[in-house]
Amino acid sequence: MRVLMIAAPGAGKGTQAERIAEHFHVPHLATGDMLREHVARGTELGREVKGHLDRGELVPDEVVLAMVRQALVSARSGNGYVLDGVPRTMPQARACYQMAAELGMAAEIVLHLRIEEALLVGRLLARAADQGRSDDTEEVIRHRIEVYDEVTRPILAWYRERNILVSVDGDQPVSDVARDIRAALTALGLAELPAPHRPRAALDLTGLDTAFGAAPHP
Ligand code: AMP
Repeated sequence: MRVLMIAAPGAGKGTQAERIAEHFHVPHLATGDMLREHVARGTELGREVKGHLDRGELVPDEVVLAMVRQALVSARSGNGYVLDGVPRTMPQARACYQMAAELGMAAEIVLHLRIEEALLVGRLLARAADQGRSDDTEEVIRHRIEVYDEVTRPILAWYRERNILVSVDGDQPVSDVARDIRAALTALGLAELPAPHRPRAALDLTGLDTAFGAAPHP
């Protein structure tokens, strides 16, 4: 299962991405989480992007794309991935496609969670109280939603034209959104779990000597 998830901030994409990843036994690759981890660890990259995150601005495409490439390469031996939070710009969309296709890992589906914009600020403020994210203050939240509207939302049309966009109603309880996602994946024939690794049955070789012309055992 190779999925891209695109949704406005606060639409619940992280929660759903996590569920899909768990169900299909694939890694959940969330660029926002990766960037926050760099900031928390105080790496050079973390110091470079902290201001962008705190202001609710996108970090430069090349920074995100290098992270995504690395994540895809390390997911290559598995059953796919859920990429959460990428792409967010048109150049990212093109580069992600090219990069994944070169690795033989192009996304099969782009999942979009639909949600009315008026609900997002309230949801994010509730999360702020819960998680204390540095970019969940009201002013930054409003800016992140604007950035989504101006730069990210237009990408959806690109995927719609390519017939790989599935849009699910995100304004429902978490388990109902998950149910609708499962239904959409099933309808597209994508809901099959990877075949389990069954131990091979022991080979029965008793008939072989007969097959090779030996006299049958008494
Ligand atoms: P998220 O956790 O997906 O809401 O992302 C949090 C923040 O990380 C965003 O507001 C951006 O500053 C940054 N970020 C995450 N993904 C990307 C991306 N694909 N392109 C640029 N910036 C990103």
